Amino acid sequence: MIDLHLHSRASDGSLTPSELVQLCAARGVQLLALTDHDCLTGLPEARSAAHTAGIRCVNGVEISVTWENKTLHVVGLNINPQNPELLAGLARLQATRAVRAQEIGRRLGVRGIHGAYAGARALAGNNNVTRTHFAQWLCDQGHAATSQKAFQRFLDRGKPGYVPTIWASIKESIGWIHAACGKAVLAHPLRYRLTRAKLMQALTAFKQAGGDAMEVICGHGNRDDIATASHYATRFELMISVGSDFHNPASPWNQPGIETPPPENLRPVWECF
Ligand code: AMP
Ligand code: MN
Ligand code: MN
Ligand code: MN
Repeated sequence: MIDLHLHSRASDGSLTPSELVQLCAARGVQLLALTDHDCLTGLPEARSAAHTAGIRCVNGVEISVTWENKTLHVVGLNINPQNPELLAGLARLQATRAVRAQEIGRRLGVRGIHGAYAGARALAGNNNVTRTHFAQWLCDQGHAATSQKAFQRFLDRGKPGYVPTIWASIKESIGWIHAACGKAVLAHPLRYRLTRAKLMQALTAFKQAGGDAMEVICGHGNRDDIATASHYATRFELMISVGSDFHNPASPWNQPGIETPPPENLRPVWECF
């Protein structure tokens, strides 16, 4: 079993990197990548835990990207976490996150919800603040029953706490990943709510910028989605990747480890590792 898209507490997951790797090992995952949002801090712990558990772990990251006013995610796999270009790029995104988090707090304050920034900041500890931390704080404070509802009411695009943000360009994200000798993977291509035409444009831009692969199985991907994504991978001559996008053991429908075998006619990105 393989899983090349996983989150830890270093970004918006709820497990430490060690706990995450142990869960992966217990579920039979043999090759994993930790891919926290715009940050590499969980990687050394994940690698060491994987060594202890006797499973393989490659260094990963999930980079926030802005393309045509939409947020996309580009996963970097098998990256060198010491590469200065990658580190400088991620430092810029982390600074953007810090400013955005304060602005989310300010906007929620205007709506009468006070203390959100301090609350989310405290939940994130030493790590970058993500919207998931705001969602959790909103739930803890009784402003929403579930994280999903907190997003729907306050944090999704167009909602009171949403702050339009300019992340990396597609080209920058791929440039940083390639500078770090990694493979650039378009994450969960069917989850952006793009029209077919728009998705084709995004894939064209990704391929032209030097993108290497795309996820064809993400989370509990159904057969139709896998077939659709595989069709795009063939058409754009991209390798394929698979990952659960696991964040939290509380979501039983989305646990680490992909059991569906990937389509056979496509080249798996993990053959490069
Ligand atoms: P950020 O990168 O800080 O904008 O946070 C994005 C993260 O929020 C995603 O990676 C998801 O983990 C989470 N997220 C986004 N939309 C939702 C939603 N509707 N419900 C629950 N979690 C979400
Ligand atoms: Mn996330
Ligand atoms: Mn993502
Ligand atoms: Mn993710």
